[in-house]
Amino acid sequence: MIDRAAGLVSPMTLLWAGALLASLTTSAPAAERRPNFVIIYADDLGYGDLGCFGHPTIRTPNLDRMASEGLRFTQFYSAAPVCTPSRAALMTGRLPIRNGMCSDKRRVLFPDSGGGIPETEITLAEALKSQGYATGCFGKWHLGHLPQFLPTNNGFDTYYGIPYSNDMDRLNDVAPPGREAFWNPKIEYWNVPLLRGTEVIERPTDQTTITRRYTEEAISFIRAHQEEPFLVYLPHSMVHIPLFRSDEFVGKSARGLYVDCLEEVDWSVGQVLQALRDLNLDEQTLVFFSSDNGPWLTFNEHGGSAGLLKDGKGTTYEGGMREPTIAWWPSRVPSGRVTQELGSTMDIFTTCVTLAGADLPSDRIMDGVDLSSVLFDEGPSKRKAVLYYRGTTLMAARLGPWKAHYFTQTSYRKDSQTRVTHDPPLLYHLGHDPGEQYNINEAHPEIIARIDALVAEHRQHLDPPPSQLEIPLAVTNE
Ligand code: MG
Repeated sequence: MIDRAAGLVSPMTLLWAGALLASLTTSAPAAERRPNFVIIYADDLGYGDLGCFGHPTIRTPNLDRMASEGLRFTQFYSAAPVCTPSRAALMTGRLPIRNGMCSDKRRVLFPDSGGGIPETEITLAEALKSQGYATGCFGKWHLGHLPQFLPTNNGFDTYYGIPYSNDMDRLNDVAPPGREAFWNPKIEYWNVPLLRGTEVIERPTDQTTITRRYTEEAISFIRAHQEEPFLVYLPHSMVHIPLFRSDEFVGKSARGLYVDCLEEVDWSVGQVLQALRDLNLDEQTLVFFSSDNGPWLTFNEHGGSAGLLKDGKGTTYEGGMREPTIAWWPSRVPSGRVTQELGSTMDIFTTCVTLAGADLPSDRIMDGVDLSSVLFDEGPSKRKAVLYYRGTTLMAARLGPWKAHYFTQTSYRKDSQTRVTHDPPLLYHLGHDPGEQYNINEAHPEIIARIDALVAEHRQHLDPPPSQLEIPLAVTNE
């Protein structure tokens, strides 16, 4: 055997060790273990904001490496153009219209909201926990801040994060008026809490270190649970305004404060992937990177860019809901590929639950599909259609490359209350015209008929419950 004192290894020992290694590799390949899942979710990140998605002055070397080692999706969607419904869909694999996590009156949950994710919903964490997964959430939750709605009551063993948007709990007696507060943000302007489990451990949260701290907490969790399958959900508070970053990232970007913050999120991705490599977990971990909705364009250069896509956050144009998405799993997802197949954040639920060997919920309508064929085999996606909801209204629908807008409405602008009805719907071919510039509805009534049929079929199976987003805090507390 090894003579540690002399530092010598005999030839026989090497042969024996080699045989043992070979037998272990043959009899128990790492791939047999159920995969770990890591979902990294940026906030308000634009389709055009990553180096690997073509931005000319933003550096995202870690996401670029993730893409070069994995699969980049160019047609991947969130299920809603704002935070709360988008996150509800990611966590449940279902359209928010099915579980009350959307509203036409209040687009997201606020600190004075009394609602949250219904107990009857099955979250991804609950589905995986029932299969023996360790589950941790580190970041922005935004599915209800009352105890019963928090991650630790919805399938996560661990939670550390700001429970809603980082621009909430604004202190108007401290912050300068209007948007001035965002141009030179200070921690004390927003009295947002930082939670561990269900306990407030810091208020206001020092947001300058929040990206780093989410990352460190997530990596600690991975280290602690490296011997068992795990789910890590890492929804960053950045790059949602107000923009904060650590000292190391101050003034580093050629694109200003927004990208100082984005470069720290990119750093975070690099740290997580390196931790997986260091722990030899990279070949048994599927990692997704995406964003909850498009860029908040009315914040000028403090918001991101949807690149060549139209409009941004809050709208059902492509810029509001198409997200820069990357999948990474070195032993399973072939490296350096780009796919134009359709995907949705709701498909992450279905894909992860299926890969974990669990049954999908059968007592309710699920809206996700298993993306395994796209991830592993370069096959066609099972997803052929995308439904674009704004609150409770189905604004548009996509079938293959065709997208029909039944209604259009801008967002967060002076004319944002103006909804325009289109009959017949506007029709765009997103392959020929990804920027939704050239309406061709007169030339293709047969395509509109097919999309109309898709929408009619969808509506036959809808039974929307009351909105959770409209429940005031006082009602729940009584
Ligand atoms: Mg958002």
